[in-house]
Amino acid sequence: MTRVGRRKTPVAAVTLLFLGLSLAACVPGGGGGGDGGGGEGDGGSAFPEDDIEIIVPFAAGGPTDTVTRMIADPMSESLGVQIVVQNIEGAGGTVAAGQAATAAPDGYTVLMHHIGMSTAPTLYPDLPYDPLADFQTVGLVTEVPMTIIARKDFEPTTVDELIAYVQENQDTVTLAHAGVGSASNLCGLLLQDAMGVKVQEVPYDGTGPAMADLVGGQVDFMCDQTTNTTGQISAGEVKAYAVTTPERVESLPDLPTTAEEGLPDLEVTVWHGLYVPTGTPDDVVATLTEALQAALQDEGVIDQMADLGTAPVETDRATPEEHTSLLEEQIGAWEEVITASQGG
Ligand code: ASP
Repeated sequence: MTRVGRRKTPVAAVTLLFLGLSLAACVPGGGGGGDGGGGEGDGGSAFPEDDIEIIVPFAAGGPTDTVTRMIADPMSESLGVQIVVQNIEGAGGTVAAGQAATAAPDGYTVLMHHIGMSTAPTLYPDLPYDPLADFQTVGLVTEVPMTIIARKDFEPTTVDELIAYVQENQDTVTLAHAGVGSASNLCGLLLQDAMGVKVQEVPYDGTGPAMADLVGGQVDFMCDQTTNTTGQISAGEVKAYAVTTPERVESLPDLPTTAEEGLPDLEVTVWHGLYVPTGTPDDVVATLTEALQAALQDEGVIDQMADLGTAPVETDRATPEEHTSLLEEQIGAWEEVITASQGG
């Protein structure tokens, strides 16, 4: 677990933690579970009074982690409390989402998740949570292009060569991803469909560790977000073939799009959003949404995202309404695509 935001001295931290816990135990909507309407305005204290934890469902150092840490500092500034980023890895992000779904609905446990929130219901028939029923959306954060990359000494250098090579060597070629349900898994699935192959997949706890192995030459290729690949592509640490958006990205202007390279159907953008468990009081969700919107307008965040090929969503999309409507639409859309891909 890594702490970001304002630092407390150990003594102050312990005192504040103790105070926070005591208050949480007697304040409606705080710490001990929400009632859907507690918090400021009904005699309780103003939220937040204690550290807020944002759960990242993948390993540290990957794209979801990177985006979360970008917004954690400015959110911490707005909220006046420390934000603690906790990585809970496993099963393509579903372990973390399962834990977040059953956390106290008090705003102190927030989940950052991406497009995987909409693909998991199709990919996991026994998913222990319902993305729509068990969570309240806080707002969208960003939409990130993906890139098709390989270890730098991988033989093919263009998409055409990649397709030919993988078709010929599908028994030995390896594809890295962050587990079933991850964005890299989804993109890898679509890429294999487009190439008409089924290669050996190597799942990791996140594309942070997967990237380390790709750079080290232990796996052959991967699909991953520009927030994790821009630096490695620019430094020549990996080979890049294409970006999965209709337009090229400014941070990688020489990289062609999948459509330019003859794969127009391979279009994926990885949207991210923040969630709290259902039952979280409305005013608490509103406070988190406001802090998210402020973070997305922070010049530092805008610059960091631009350097990595993405941008914050517009403020009017960083809302529960827009986020829920996208989630609903995406669950249906990906169910169709994944079912078709699995031959259903
Ligand atoms: N975003 C990555 C994926 O879903 C995982 C990660 O953030 O490490 O493939």
